[in-house]
Amino acid sequence: MRYLILSDIHSNLEALEAVLGQAQARYEQVVCLGDVVGYGPNPNEVIDRLQELKPVATVRGNHDKASCGIDSAEEFNAAARQAALWTREQLRAENLSYLRQLPSGPIRLNTFQIVHGSLRDEDEYLFQPREAYESLKLAEISFTFCGHTHFQGGFALKESGRMEILRVSHARGVAMAELKLEAGARYLINPGSIGQPRDGDARAAFACFDPDRQQVEYWRVPYDVRATQAKMRAAGLPESLAVRLSFGR
Ligand code: ZN
Repeated sequence: MRYLILSDIHSNLEALEAVLGQAQARYEQVVCLGDVVGYGPNPNEVIDRLQELKPVATVRGNHDKASCGIDSAEEFNAAARQAALWTREQLRAENLSYLRQLPSGPIRLNTFQIVHGSLRDEDEYLFQPREAYESLKLAEISFTFCGHTHFQGGFALKESGRMEILRVSHARGVAMAELKLEAGARYLINPGSIGQPRDGDARAAFACFDPDRQQVEYWRVPYDVRATQAKMRAAGLPESLAVRLSFGR
């Protein structure tokens, strides 16, 4: 069974469609690591499209919670809060219900588990090996997929006890980087963000996971950033959120 791992789509329909076009025929099942909405201009369309894919598991993200009213957006910065409140106004009733029923992680599947932030806390950002180690210590299985930071890559705790940062080459033009998984190691694997990358590469990010071949593919795919930005401006979403899409920061 091959899995398509989607994360942090953030209401960006153009980026999601580009990912699905590239991923075609590379997977049998879909999982989603949360932040389906927030920031971007197409919350309803993105929820509809995601549901068409019939993911076997989807966890909620902090922006999903804020956009459906489970959380107030008080801890967000001003631009993120404005986008969350705008999203709440746009969402159709059934899509608000959809977001409200999304579970928190971790959700365990056959050979792996998924979270939005970390194994300790669904809203924790894992930027440093030290933080990742605290989660990996808790992992009872080898493979955990996480999102939230919008950085493609992740961390490995080797059998020797050594922590390793999984770095993905963001060289222009490189569409896919392969990670061979080692037996005995525990992994936190971040597919990167589809709708708002922050790791310096503006292309949409996703991953494919093949547990039988013990392999992860990290993908980047270009999309029509200008079309998304034009929709954001037309919707009156904060300009800073539109501009950052050009840079992937
Ligand atoms: Zn996010």
